[in-house]
Amino acid sequence: MSNDHSDDDGIMQFAAENTDERVGRGQTWRVLIIDDEKDVHSATTFALRSTEVVGRPLEFLHATSAREAQQILRTHKDIAVILLDVVMETPNAGLDLVPLIRDELAIKDTRIILRTGQPNQAPEIEVIRDYDINDYKLKSELTQSRLFASLTTAIRSYKQIQTIEAGKKSLAMIVKSSAQLLTESGLHEFAQGVILHLSGLLSIAPEGLICARRRDRNDGNTRIIAAAGHYKPLINKPLSELNEEDAQNSLLECLDSQCNIYNKHGIALYLGSEDRGDMACFVSSAAELDEVDEQLLELFCSNITICADNLGHVTQLSEYAYHDALTGLPNRNALVDYVSKAIAEKRVEGYCLCLIDIDNFSEINTSLGQDYGDDLLQGVAAKMREQFPAPNFVARIFGDTFALFGPSDSINQDRIIKPFSSPFDIDGEEQIISVTAGVVPISEVNGDGEEAIKDATIVLKTAKRHSHGEVLLFRHNMIDDAQRRLGMLRHLRSAFRLEQLFMVFQPKLRLSDLEVTGFEALIRWRDENGEMIPPATFIPLAEQSGLIVEMGAWIYKQSLMALKDLHDQGWNDRHMSVNLSVAQLQHRGVLDMLKNNAAEVGIDPKWVNLEITESLAISDFDATLDLLNDIKAMGFTLSLDDFGTGYSSLNLLHRLPIDFLKLDRSLVEASDSTSGGDILEMIVQLAGKLGMEVIAEGVEESDQVSFLKNLDCDHAQGFYYAKPMEKDVLLTWLTNKENKNV
Ligand code: C2E
Ligand code: MG
Ligand code: MG
Repeated sequence: MSNDHSDDDGIMQFAAENTDERVGRGQTWRVLIIDDEKDVHSATTFALRSTEVVGRPLEFLHATSAREAQQILRTHKDIAVILLDVVMETPNAGLDLVPLIRDELAIKDTRIILRTGQPNQAPEIEVIRDYDINDYKLKSELTQSRLFASLTTAIRSYKQIQTIEAGKKSLAMIVKSSAQLLTESGLHEFAQGVILHLSGLLSIAPEGLICARRRDRNDGNTRIIAAAGHYKPLINKPLSELNEEDAQNSLLECLDSQCNIYNKHGIALYLGSEDRGDMACFVSSAAELDEVDEQLLELFCSNITICADNLGHVTQLSEYAYHDALTGLPNRNALVDYVSKAIAEKRVEGYCLCLIDIDNFSEINTSLGQDYGDDLLQGVAAKMREQFPAPNFVARIFGDTFALFGPSDSINQDRIIKPFSSPFDIDGEEQIISVTAGVVPISEVNGDGEEAIKDATIVLKTAKRHSHGEVLLFRHNMIDDAQRRLGMLRHLRSAFRLEQLFMVFQPKLRLSDLEVTGFEALIRWRDENGEMIPPATFIPLAEQSGLIVEMGAWIYKQSLMALKDLHDQGWNDRHMSVNLSVAQLQHRGVLDMLKNNAAEVGIDPKWVNLEITESLAISDFDATLDLLNDIKAMGFTLSLDDFGTGYSSLNLLHRLPIDFLKLDRSLVEASDSTSGGDILEMIVQLAGKLGMEVIAEGVEESDQVSFLKNLDCDHAQGFYYAKPMEKDVLLTWLTNKENKNV
């Protein structure tokens, strides 16, 4: 035992309250004093009276002989420490009791402190070791503070042992329950099982437990899917029918925060599962949980979650693990396995992996419908099979991306592109498509099948960026390129943290009177060497990495604060346009972000215009439409940016709640040619019919201005009038412009 009991002395507290209250409720540490001298009993209890050890008072049990001790030990559980006198009826009566306690009564966790009157009565070292004796002290050594120190150490280790034991027991239960649950089928039984096992785990009756699941976070449709005890009639009812507010709140809080909630009403455990949606389980339990219980419950939850996932996966796994349900082709897993095996067995000399992607598939899918898209994918799959029989291996690895693994001489531009140049017959319609492909010779791959797919994906993406309808062969600099982009992303993250990013604002003018009606906020990055990095380089990186969500919120707030300043300085009635990227709009917090920041800065949404790109509006049209309507309902206005560069169908365009159409610079540039001019004219007229105002972007020349004015184009933005400027420069520019006009 340690000698530095001075530390332990610091823990000694003299409990103010009556300790008796906690006696018998499992809230004390039981200490059994076994000694044939009555004085020792009273001296010990006197020394430790009103003492609290490791957070609880002590409760003493007394035995004056080994026989009495046996009786107490058989009838009383949870004895933390035995203070055992060695010499009693016989010189070894105390020591003889030890094997009885440990072996016969199988009491393993109780700590034993031996006390003897004489040094020569010290037990053999083997006894101490074999019988797990905690401490050995001469009675004369046991002053009040030493006794306390000795007891503290013993009680701490008793507590630890108990915790470990409880942990082991619960772990075994968790493991067992997971295994049993896995054999259950159906969510209902599964949920019932969870309730039963949980009550077992907490040693409470399977009563007052409910399980709820929320299918959709937004519509508040939370249903009770299993219940036990008095909650039973609520099965399959909405959670709102539960009349217990505390339980309901705990469950909702648990689902919203995706965390376990422990409070005085009970415990709500989060059992989220990607496949099944969010689940939570409520147990009304008044018992206070300690840290260990909480940890065990967390463990239980994660196990259950895995279990729930597996439950869904078991059937799925066997069916879908290696097959693509739509086309019947092997899927990505199958391809990885196949290529990895070929690489491992060195059967890849002269082989390559080719990824083939259908150009503009998502547009086809959106405009002609998913069934049509599915039929097309099946058609492509059939053609792939026909064109590339064994030993080629054909798979569909993702969406509209197919893979081909085979001898390099059969995989070339002609063999890949040609088969797709004749139209597909889909539902009696002729559909012409083109494909883009990326090819990697397996000899270039440094790794397994997974690595080969990664490399081929880089090649495919590079090919897609440059052109459509081509087959691109792997080059090492493509990997370098990917690495360079990763390096730049890291650079961008740190630039964002180091506040090297800032906003500039470009005026927009009404063509009829050249009044400034608003500004477009554009981001700038000046790196540590003072070099400007263009947004066209880093915005896509921020989008791909998801950084845009955080960065976009910052951009938005900065822009609104600048607008507030402009308004305060007399340039009111002007609006601010902020570019929103696809990833930002797909983030579920976007509406709150827009609304809350505007409220915080004190800007009415009617002064805020949000620019979205054509490609966003077209992909996943219905979801986008709902979102845009929500944004409009909050008072913001919307612009469709870069119009003329994408594939928007006019049919979809008129359904979008768009206020402004921004003509892309390339259209404005082309206005000097006849056809370019005609297109512009047509778009301006169309926009007018759809009730949208037109803004011409990238206006650089006076000829362009007169042409646009002639067409009755509403607004212009471009270097001809002003470049994007930092706020202070913009203020000066605005003042100068006004002075000139006056
Ligand atoms: P955008 O939204 O179409 O922005 C207009 C771009 O045209 C800006 O380029 C602007 O500086 C440039 N521009 C304006 N007038 C002229 C002109 O007369 N001639 C020429 N040649 N260019 C002109 P910038 O700032 O380089 O931004 C490029 C693109 O990067 C933007 O295109 C936008 O898509 C994106 N971007 C810029 N800032 C942000 C931002 O804060 N958030 C998001 N999500 N994207 C941004
Ligand atoms: Mg823009
Ligand atoms: Mg634009």
